[in-house]
Amino acid sequence: MTQSPRISPTTAALVEQSERRSAHNYHPLPVVIHQAEGAWVTDVEGRRYLDCLAGYSSLNFGHGNPVILAAARAQLDRLTLTSRAFVHDRFADFCAALGDLTGKDMILPMNTGAEAVETAIKVARKWGYEVKGVPDGMATIIVAENNFHGRTTTIVGFSTDPDARNGFGPFAPGFRVVKYGSADAIRDAIDDTTVAVLIEPVQGEAGVLVPPDGYLTQVREICAENRVLMIADEIQSGLGRTGDTFACDHEGVVPDMYVLGKALGGGVVPVSAVAADAAVLGVIRPGQHGSTFGGNPLACAVGIAVVELLSTGEYQTRARELGALLHGRLRGLVGHGLLAVRGRGLWAGIDIDPSLGTGRQVSEALLERGVLVKDTHGSTVRLGPPLVISEEDLMWAVDRLAEALSDLR
Ligand SMILES: *Cc1c(COP(=O)(O)O)cnc(C)c1O
Repeated sequence: MTQSPRISPTTAALVEQSERRSAHNYHPLPVVIHQAEGAWVTDVEGRRYLDCLAGYSSLNFGHGNPVILAAARAQLDRLTLTSRAFVHDRFADFCAALGDLTGKDMILPMNTGAEAVETAIKVARKWGYEVKGVPDGMATIIVAENNFHGRTTTIVGFSTDPDARNGFGPFAPGFRVVKYGSADAIRDAIDDTTVAVLIEPVQGEAGVLVPPDGYLTQVREICAENRVLMIADEIQSGLGRTGDTFACDHEGVVPDMYVLGKALGGGVVPVSAVAADAAVLGVIRPGQHGSTFGGNPLACAVGIAVVELLSTGEYQTRARELGALLHGRLRGLVGHGLLAVRGRGLWAGIDIDPSLGTGRQVSEALLERGVLVKDTHGSTVRLGPPLVISEEDLMWAVDRLAEALSDLR
């Protein structure tokens, strides 16, 4: 078992201060970050850490990516906010760029991931009533166990995580929870009221759970056969992380709706969006949905830069190649402190042998060694560094992990 990390008095005081007047809805690791570049962050005392969390995939393109920053700076000096009451001159380009990337006709921009998921739910329900002919107020949406789609009351209502859910009811009806990874479970849950299946193509918060091969293809087929929309929440899995532009690409699957966020904001501002064809997104008409900040000029400028970065395929290739190296090295640690390794691309969930310690303890041991990671659900630690990380740095991080595990033994 590990002792808690050596924390300097300065850091301890700043951590305590940051808790004093804030709600305690997080339990952050004891590091106070001051500055960052690429895959590296520096704390207030000048210590450097390799960021292997990357803002839960919000920083796919690294801290301070020069292309994204240049786009943001240029936009900051010219125009930042108009509201959608007026048209601004970056809006059309953003929608066209993201529409081309997703292969969809239409984009509905929001800010946070949860808002984009809420948008997808609203669109699916309205589509169900107006296009599919589901009786008013009866629409159901199928979701998966261990899902993470955000923190609004509607969304936590169909979470299976007691921490996320307990104490926040009453919850919105209209959701059916089925086992993740089982196409049969989806087929069995579908009836005439079903308007959509909402899934993460890889479950991030659950511990980077990759579904069995063929699952996404089967979900796509079942949805098509039953006139049900397939909604892929690619907020964490999308935009390069898994080695493809979208995690659904791994099986060549095209959902009816993509839900995007996190990396779409380039690590600068919250940018999220739903992408779908006009036959689906066209059900939303003026006044029926919106957001004061959604699709603002600064967000659009950043979003355009992000789509441009993805258009060459360079980041997807990096994620695939570095991911293969990462997974190869991690598999070598199974039986040496790790029980299992999962993931795809530059994204891994590792299960720590519980006899060595918790995920939190391993995260703290890595913090001491200059690597930032975050535990999720007990004994699992998630690794998802920025896609700009060098091979050398990535291997250095795995060496630190091996060291931490062997010290805990
Ligand atoms: C992070 C995340 C969300 C919620 O995004 P927020 O910006 O935190 O609201 C939704 N779905 C998935 C898969 C996520 O990883």
